[in-house]
Amino acid sequence: MKIRVLRAGLCGTDLHLHDWDAWAASVVKPPMTLGHEFCGVVAEVGRDVTSVHEGQLVSGEGHIVCGTCRNCRAGRRHLCIHTVGIGVNRDGAFADYVVIPAGNVWVQPDDLDPDLGAVFDPLGNATHTALSFPLAGEDVLVTGAGPIGVMATAIARHVGARYVVVSDLSPFRLELARKAGADLVLDPTRTDLRGAMDALGMKEGFDIGLEMSGAPAAVEQMISTMNHGGRIAMLGLPSGPYPVDWSKVITHMLTIKGIYGREMYDTWYAMSAMLQTPSSSAAALRDAVRSVITHRFPAVRFAEAFETVRAGECGKVILDWES
Ligand code: NAD
Ligand code: ZN
Repeated sequence: MKIRVLRAGLCGTDLHLHDWDAWAASVVKPPMTLGHEFCGVVAEVGRDVTSVHEGQLVSGEGHIVCGTCRNCRAGRRHLCIHTVGIGVNRDGAFADYVVIPAGNVWVQPDDLDPDLGAVFDPLGNATHTALSFPLAGEDVLVTGAGPIGVMATAIARHVGARYVVVSDLSPFRLELARKAGADLVLDPTRTDLRGAMDALGMKEGFDIGLEMSGAPAAVEQMISTMNHGGRIAMLGLPSGPYPVDWSKVITHMLTIKGIYGREMYDTWYAMSAMLQTPSSSAAALRDAVRSVITHRFPAVRFAEAFETVRAGECGKVILDWES
């Protein structure tokens, strides 16, 4: 299916690819069009496509799965061992048009703001992570207030967590997390996490950890401030192997779950429903997700967009084909 791109978001992966670091060189076979977070209008459909039609507003699931491996056939498509990444292993959305299988299209309501449509991929990462464990009534630690950490903060709030504490090194990003509903935000290099817990009257430890930084120091802090029996969902990708205090994990009986991508398509149903519910809490979630988008550049000014992401004083940066 051919989609005319309206908006596309930049993510850390795109920066690695743009910088052509060792990881990028090992994964990508150029020439390759980058971009996997996008929203657009269906321009053309294949002969056998009946589920989507020309003119519909759509977002795209960035992982194309094989459909035949054990996990795919069991309905666990996010665990496909042959996953192909749009904008990584095949041409992506930093272009006027992107072509993806019809099965990877998520049809959006016609009146959805395309900006919001473009962040469904990272919002899906946040949703997948935040809904991995029940959060109602729990005390939640989010490490990392990048776009995904901030959206996960808003989701934790929406689904009824008691306290949501967010750590990051960037004051700009901590402010985004505070606006998205965090009860307390802190820079762990300046403020002790245990002091923050005392301030909230938390006597024992966090029930749930959402690791959204990929920073070994954040993981260490998380493990050492979880209550016994605490559960950690890890989305943040580290740049390499690092040591972990396994004795704490074992004696505190922590559960650690890695999270990759989005569940296809449970996560998509869940996030769409959470955004559409006519409640004040859903309205707050919509506002929080929108507030994560801090910059929008005309697509032709992509170089400035990459520089903005690199500088770090930003939430989600979007390229716009309509301005
Ligand atoms: P991001 O890089 O914009 O945000 C990460 C944040 O972590 C930054 O704001 C950084 O300041 C903060 N940080 C660094 N050290 C920290 C520390 N010691 N304590 C607390 N915070 C610290 O990334 P993002 O786009 O929001 O994505 C979040 C993470 O998830 C990244 O690591 C990304 O690579 C990863 N990711 C994983 C998947 C997946 O499928 N598993 C998908 C998308 C992104
Ligand atoms: Zn498969």
